[in-house]
Amino acid sequence: MPQMNSSYLSFERNGPLSVKAMENKNNLVTLKVELRHKTEKCPKCSKRSSAIHSHYSRKIKDLPAFGNEVIFHFLCKKFFCKNDDCDQSIFTERFNDQFMSYSRMSVRLTKKLLKPGLLTGGNAGSKISRLHNIDISASTNVANHLQNTNDCVGGTKGFGNR
Ligand SMILES: [Zn+2]
Repeated sequence: MPQMNSSYLSFERNGPLSVKAMENKNNLVTLKVELRHKTEKCPKCSKRSSAIHSHYSRKIKDLPAFGNEVIFHFLCKKFFCKNDDCDQSIFTERFNDQFMSYSRMSVRLTKKLLKPGLLTGGNAGSKISRLHNIDISASTNVANHLQNTNDCVGGTKGFGNR
């Protein structure tokens, strides 16, 4: 089964992402997509499962395109782990490379926002991002900076904790 990475984001005919619908309204492009694969590996025991428990939706902002804000609206699958020796009963499918767990922005958008956020601070960085059709709050800008500082140097306690 192919792993998803940024090279597959071009929506190749047999790539892992399947576009179900697209809407362009008020300079906002929403792409409703889902992964094509029908099985997923349990993150605990690595046993592959095809037993779908349920679905949930997840929205992830991506870089703007043609002057429009872009949001991926994923229909995600949850699977049962059928391994009796595993204590993970349910797990969600994984998005590699550009779409990290629990993130509401693609990795490439986060990287793009980091520079104005670092150079100008939360409010000014937010205003600069809006000029480029990336609607992001000042607090998200600061959170991005802190998250990336944690990722790069192994931990930051936050403002005023030292
Ligand atoms: Zn398992």
